[in-house]
Amino acid sequence: MTNIERAPLDLAYRQAVDYLTGLRERPVGATAGLDELIELLGGPMPENSLPAVDTIKLLGEAVERGGIPAASGPRFFGYVTGGTLPVAVAADWLVAAWDQTASLYNLSPAISVAEHVAGDWLVDLFGLPPGTSVGFPTGCTMAHLTALAAARNHLLGQRGWDVEKHGLREAPEIEVIAGAQHHMTIDLALRYLGFGSGRVRVVPVDERGRMRVDELARVLADCTSPPIVCAQIGDVNSGAIDPVGEICDLAHRYGAWVHVDGAFGLWAAASPSLRPLVEGVERADSWACDAHKWLNVPYDCGIVFVTRPDAHRAAMLNERAGYLPAERPGERDAIEWVPDFSRRARSLPVWAALRTLGKAGVADLVDRCCALTRRFAEQLAEIEGVELLNDVVLNQVMVRFGDDDAVTRDVIARVQASGECWFGGTVWYGRAAMRVSVVSWRTTEDDVDRSVKVIRTAVAAAAGAELDRRAG
Ligand SMILES: *Cc1c(COP(=O)(O)O)cnc(C)c1O
Repeated sequence: MTNIERAPLDLAYRQAVDYLTGLRERPVGATAGLDELIELLGGPMPENSLPAVDTIKLLGEAVERGGIPAASGPRFFGYVTGGTLPVAVAADWLVAAWDQTASLYNLSPAISVAEHVAGDWLVDLFGLPPGTSVGFPTGCTMAHLTALAAARNHLLGQRGWDVEKHGLREAPEIEVIAGAQHHMTIDLALRYLGFGSGRVRVVPVDERGRMRVDELARVLADCTSPPIVCAQIGDVNSGAIDPVGEICDLAHRYGAWVHVDGAFGLWAAASPSLRPLVEGVERADSWACDAHKWLNVPYDCGIVFVTRPDAHRAAMLNERAGYLPAERPGERDAIEWVPDFSRRARSLPVWAALRTLGKAGVADLVDRCCALTRRFAEQLAEIEGVELLNDVVLNQVMVRFGDDDAVTRDVIARVQASGECWFGGTVWYGRAAMRVSVVSWRTTEDDVDRSVKVIRTAVAAAAGAELDRRAG
């Protein structure tokens, strides 16, 4: 490798380490606007080649100008994003450098084995049934797609229909049931699979957003064949957890396939203190989870688990083209477990994170985020006029500032503009709310206290502005 070829790598390494080192004090929101970024990064595609090092420099400049929010920093509480463990970033760098197609054992034996091991570790960590098959797709949405495809294969197979060969036209009907608070990505996966999101039978939820088992019983009694039931552990806003054990027991009496959306909530199963919250989760048939959220590995990495490897494999890869080698015993080909064909070794950072944290480290990460969320809830509750909208069961809390939606939105905008910390908004049962999601290993008590101070200031300013407005 020449020095010129090496230069962009050295520069990128320095920039990346500088970025991560400065993350704690970097402005949390994006400060550069769209126009500025388009000017910096856009224009016509160059006619001729340019030095690679200049390209990397330009990317660094875009970030320095505040082009990306420090979403993996310690005071980003929007969405459910997660940070990045240093070991996971390091492993991800190697994934890019090695550039191995992690699809087949014989293309990348070490990566295939690491992925296999990571999958087994996760099955054990979450207490799922031994023999559960695992895949690492891009995220929880694709994990839903994979799991629901396996469910479809199994349920239609039972009724004598090979859906992989004949598709859904003229196939027997499969009902799909989900709670009223199910995540929109369940609908996406259903659309991609040709079920149509409008077909979901929606089960009412209780005042905390959990699926009502008595209502589920009513819907199940109405089904003429075994349906798919989608349960959720960890509502994206409230963290609410469906009574998943009860749901499994009831649904299985009807021969249903129970799929669990545990994008971040499944990590509760890895914490001895939180495990009781998801009691019975291991009795489901499939689970979708994310590594890029609570495990703090870089994007993108989801995880899918299926208790019926045959249905899982059949739904993803039915026949091998002649140029693919046959799988030999003990060797795992990832193409059998995910929708992708060629793919990056996104499971390697997962292996690295799990190996480094150990079971105790994962439990500590999850518990710490939940404790910090309770700290948020306690301190926010002390602010005049603040209303907490949910029971803090996991790492999510929602608050509202007064009766007027506009005031809550104003507070959120002021906090976001501070650059100190970042919270997003949502609508919860028809009312505006601010979401707090604690999901980064970097977040400390000091980060919580500092952020609450910013919120206090914003609340006071919003109240002042409101008085002024009313006074005309
Ligand atoms: C984030 C999330 C998803 C979607 O996950 P992606 O990784 O973004 O595809 C699904 N369900 C819940 C509950 C989530 O929080």
